[in-house]
Amino acid sequence: MEKTNADNYEQMQQGLMLPVMEEFCTVQGEGHNTGKAAWFIRIGGCDVGCSWCDVKESWNAELHPLSFTKDIIEHAVQQAVRSVVITGGEPMLYNLNPLCEGLKFSGFETFLETSGSAPLSGIWDWVCLSPKKNAPALEKYYNIANELKVIIADKSDLEWAEICAEQVRNSYCILYLQPEWSRFREISPVIIDYVKNSPKWNVSVQAHKFLRIP
Ligand code: SF4
Repeated sequence: MEKTNADNYEQMQQGLMLPVMEEFCTVQGEGHNTGKAAWFIRIGGCDVGCSWCDVKESWNAELHPLSFTKDIIEHAVQQAVRSVVITGGEPMLYNLNPLCEGLKFSGFETFLETSGSAPLSGIWDWVCLSPKKNAPALEKYYNIANELKVIIADKSDLEWAEICAEQVRNSYCILYLQPEWSRFREISPVIIDYVKNSPKWNVSVQAHKFLRIP
């Protein structure tokens, strides 16, 4: 029997189908896990609307075909790596419980990249929270984040970074300031000076862009 849009919507609500934009093996380029080889799953759909977003083609979920979660897991299982980074778009717009359960059952470490703007689902070994001014993160993410990564495009973003850092509720969360790529040359010296005077912060650079890998 042919599947209808209503069937697909129901399966998406249950996390049994997801709009996958792309899946690829690469090396994590940002934050604490920089340099770690991983299978990336980029899920389409984001309503946060960052002006400097470098994956704007991810925003409209309807442009990305729905895949069965069991197939997404199977693609990961076929890889040599046993680490998966789930990114977007904003992956928390979806129920990721079945995806994470399948990945954990298959022996994967699961890494999340999120703005924290939508309710949490899934099972995570590492949560990278990157809150955005236009859609602030829910409180829960500040309680569980392993790293806080604030993107700095201009000086005023440093105030936003401090507001975010004040909300972190665990002592093990690593704090990162990351230059926005298109403003890298101008803003990096500002960030470096800032970190020298406020050493609770670390600098994250987008190593994958220097390496010219996805
Ligand atoms: Fe782009 Fe991420 Fe911002 Fe969404 S939250 S607009 S995917 S940078």
